[in-house]
Amino acid sequence: METIRDGFDGATTDFKEGLARGTVHEIGHQFNVARVPREHRPAADNVMFGKSLKDVPANQFLFHPDDVSFLRFDHRSPGSRAAAV
Ligand SMILES: [Zn+2]
Repeated sequence: METIRDGFDGATTDFKEGLARGTVHEIGHQFNVARVPREHRPAADNVMFGKSLKDVPANQFLFHPDDVSFLRFDHRSPGSRAAAV
């Protein structure tokens, strides 16, 4: 996790909400979403926004549709593969 991001966001928003947002964002990095253009998205309308996560409205703190598609098609879901066929 990025301690600096957690500290920055925690200073300007509810601390627990800052931790939660930072965790979701960093998990996005672990799954390598938002690789294009450069690991972050420029608009404050998704989880992978590249600036302060506090600027993303709560009702838009979601993965960008392109990232959802990437996650669905490039990463296996948990559970039996046979059940999905
Ligand atoms: Zn990031």
